[in-house]
Amino acid sequence: MTPDRPLFERLGLIGVGLIGSSIARAARAQGAVRTIVATARSAATRRRVAELGLADQVVEGNAAAATGADLVIVSIPVGESGAVAQEIGRHLEPGAIVSDVGSVKGSVLRDMAPHIPKGVHFVPAHPVAGTEYSGPDAGFAELFVDRWCILTPPENANTAAVERLAAFWRALGANVETMTAEHHDLVLAVTSHLPHLIAYTIVGTADEFAQVTRSEVLQFSAGGFRDFTRIAASDPTMWRDIFLANKDAVLEMLGRFNEDVAALTRAIRRGDGEALFEHFTRTRAIRRGIVAVGQDSPAPDFGRPHPGLPRDPLPRPYAADEVEDSGQRTDDGRKGG
Ligand code: NAP
Repeated sequence: MTPDRPLFERLGLIGVGLIGSSIARAARAQGAVRTIVATARSAATRRRVAELGLADQVVEGNAAAATGADLVIVSIPVGESGAVAQEIGRHLEPGAIVSDVGSVKGSVLRDMAPHIPKGVHFVPAHPVAGTEYSGPDAGFAELFVDRWCILTPPENANTAAVERLAAFWRALGANVETMTAEHHDLVLAVTSHLPHLIAYTIVGTADEFAQVTRSEVLQFSAGGFRDFTRIAASDPTMWRDIFLANKDAVLEMLGRFNEDVAALTRAIRRGDGEALFEHFTRTRAIRRGIVAVGQDSPAPDFGRPHPGLPRDPLPRPYAADEVEDSGQRTDDGRKGG
């Protein structure tokens, strides 16, 4: 929803990587802010931000980006949030909103809140959208469209400030949900942090299995492994910080996960096909649910484009067409592997 006039006069953007640069691009495209003043830690990134024209002004120093802004968004790895809040605290304008985009909320609240002066509204946020790429070149204006942005305002937060920030995210195309930081961290531990840990583990395991890595693992990577490698290519700094910051919730979910792996291991060992089938049926329904609510593509292979066949396909109709769910079956009617 494009606002009639800018929702904020001046966005101070601290950190212009994948998320920060997507915010800049989307806020510009939607006219959500009048001006953008941005900064990043290194001169190289600041130079690139200027070259890409992502901000009206690129400044050196976090305090300079925060000064005079009515909205400040800190878009950096979560481990840096406390130090940056301390740097900018006394430069914040009374009435300004300070937010972030960190993937963990409890630690951000703990580390940033003490440095935010009275009269400045602190409303942490997490846009649940991303890719495995980093840096200002990686962002794009549509990143947040139809994705969720979770706001985790502290208990005493100013409701008008929360609503203003929600309107900003809606203008960028996101759906907005509000919850406590604690609840957010538990939910994200299972939906995002644990899957990343599993991907990092399995790709590492395959790599240690060096003989295979050199040949079959890469050659046959389409069989599920390839999707893990995409997740495991995510930024090491960001993910190190996430696991350190969300330690308790991740350990809780990891404990449950290990119990479930043990149950499936037992089913395989005992030849308990019924238990395996029931489990896989339940998980398939979850995938279908995700597609049904529009959070992923229903296209086969996650909608990846495929090159055409070298020769014309067989003329239709052929046997598999008559079988429901034909893409899953071989032509003698067995389920494909
Ligand atoms: P990124 O592409 O690596 O960008 C990080 C940016 O922060 C860079 O511009 C970096 O500057 C800057 N920075 C780092 N430390 C700083 C400091 N002390 N002061 C000022 N700037 C600093 O990271 P990202 O993927 O955008 O992630 C940013 C945040 O978004 C993280 O908290 C992450 O948890 C959250 N998030 C990420 C995703 C995702 O999929 N990537 C999704 C949702 C939320 P230099 O380039 O100069 O180092």
